[in-house]
Amino acid sequence: MQEKANSAKRPPSVGFVSLGCPKALVDSERILTQLKVEGYEVAPTYEGADLIVVNTCGFIDSAVQESLDAIGEAIHANGKVIVTGCLGAKNGDEGKNLITTLHPKVLAVTGPHATEEVMQAVHTHLPKPHDPFIDLVPDHGVKLTPKHYAYLKISEGCNHRCTFCIIPDMRGDLVSRPIGEVMREAESLKKSGVKELLVVSQDTSAYGVDIKYRTDFVNGRPVKTQFQQLAEELGQLGIWVRMHYVYPYPHVDRVVPLMAEGKILPYLDIPFQHSHPDVLKRMKRPASGERNIERIRAWRDACPDITLRSTFITGFPGETEAEFEHLLAFIEEAQLDRVGVFAYSPVDGAKANELPNPVPEEVKEERRARLMALQETISLVRNQAKIGKTLQVIVDETDDEGIVARSAADAPEIDGNVFIPMPENPALRPKVGDFVSVEIDDCDEHDLWGSITEH
Ligand code: SF4
Repeated sequence: MQEKANSAKRPPSVGFVSLGCPKALVDSERILTQLKVEGYEVAPTYEGADLIVVNTCGFIDSAVQESLDAIGEAIHANGKVIVTGCLGAKNGDEGKNLITTLHPKVLAVTGPHATEEVMQAVHTHLPKPHDPFIDLVPDHGVKLTPKHYAYLKISEGCNHRCTFCIIPDMRGDLVSRPIGEVMREAESLKKSGVKELLVVSQDTSAYGVDIKYRTDFVNGRPVKTQFQQLAEELGQLGIWVRMHYVYPYPHVDRVVPLMAEGKILPYLDIPFQHSHPDVLKRMKRPASGERNIERIRAWRDACPDITLRSTFITGFPGETEAEFEHLLAFIEEAQLDRVGVFAYSPVDGAKANELPNPVPEEVKEERRARLMALQETISLVRNQAKIGKTLQVIVDETDDEGIVARSAADAPEIDGNVFIPMPENPALRPKVGDFVSVEIDDCDEHDLWGSITEH
């Protein structure tokens, strides 16, 4: 009887599956925060939940398959499923919504960045509890990343129309969050113990262009909603700030001095994708007319410690051997620190699929391997130059044997690590989220090894 009374009182519970990129992760955090605010519980298993929300990714074919599998699994195990995220906005070949066509049992489908619609669907199928414990939700919401770092999403959507990408079709044009709101979130994250903020969007350097850099208020001061101003404001928080998805527009140069002054991390994640002007034109890439080698040189002059990360695509439709060799020469000259290389993979609905002269699979792959091999030699030399230096690192994981940390040059999940043996002296043993000084004594092309000098 007692058990029955308890279960009657149990708050409704929602299971959550979060797939996709850091931007999707931020959407998941918003939905989870709202669920908590309204008094729902988050269930750790399908079976223990009254309903499941699946946040999907629709970018490349393998991500689509992973999302469809997750939806199928949730329907099988639980039966009540709401789908959100990029794949939710996609249509199948006959022009009908892909999810409702393949999984007609799904209760509701929304696109990305749709907390309100998801909550409406949740309310319809699992009514709100009467007495939400609003006070139990922390100011900074619910975070899915470890507590010492967090993603800060500054805008949604994109004004560009790169021919290989369908994100603007799924997420719409750029919508920037006012700088006051972004800074309130950043300050609240810092207050909750976050030591590193990763600024994400589809196009970070375009921040504010959609609202004409409108002035907003940060702690009562008027500040423009603009990339450089954002970097300056975040730079005053006294924690690590890392910029992702920056395009090489001229105004980006003005943020590099803030890196040299130690206000924000000397790290730029710039997805160049290619170097040859004709390929960039076919890709319709933003800022493709910039003289990138000269820009890189100027950034390094202004901030010698800057780490440059980029991604490239091999075998884009029509890419000739000469165009690919142009890219190899660019990589050789640019001496970037971190490079991700992807063989071109057609995305359903992307304009690039209509371009002539597709590159055969084996050529795409062979070029990817050549580019990676070249970059590995460059990354190795750049890491070797760090041997003997003392770097400040942030601790991500610890156990009795050792410590996994990252330096300013390493973004979580995508870059390398710094591996450190656990010091014998208990006074030197750090905790997750601590900053420590480490002398580097070994490396490979991705990671560094060293020992703690100061904590
Ligand atoms: S900049 Fe290009 S690749 Fe990036 S989201 Fe916009 S359209 Fe897609």
